[in-house]
Amino acid sequence: MAKVESFSLDHTKVLAPYVRLIAEEKGKNGDVISNYDLRLVQPNENAIPTAGLHTIEHVLAGLLRDRIDGVIDCSPFGCRTGFHLIVWGEHSTKEIAEALKGALEDIVNKVEWKDVPGTDKYSCGNYRDHSLFSAKEWSKDILAKGISSEPFERKEV
Ligand SMILES: [Zn+2]
Repeated sequence: MAKVESFSLDHTKVLAPYVRLIAEEKGKNGDVISNYDLRLVQPNENAIPTAGLHTIEHVLAGLLRDRIDGVIDCSPFGCRTGFHLIVWGEHSTKEIAEALKGALEDIVNKVEWKDVPGTDKYSCGNYRDHSLFSAKEWSKDILAKGISSEPFERKEV
């Protein structure tokens, strides 16, 4: 099986919440795609419940595109401790961490249920499994801990 960088990261050494550059991939024409680890909670100590994570996913899809040019995708990790963010071009982890912080602040302070996209059977694969309450409470907790632009030391933005 191909070796995947994410599985060689020592998950016991990281200090969440943080943003980490996983890899920059260059295409045949020189285009760069960057893959980030947006780690919201400490691995093996916490995991965001599915309904809250699902709502954070739907809302981040728009809020991160409002803040970062070239967002391709932002999808949750199966372990429910964070998200992959795939973006065109090169961006500093500080820029990504600031965008994530602003997006989570919006979830806590501004987002209402009517603002959450994809909450019916036509636009989501499991529309019954959403919780804006959980999304807000977990976002508050993550913001209180601060978001670092480095995974192994705290450099909060
Ligand atoms: Zn969905």
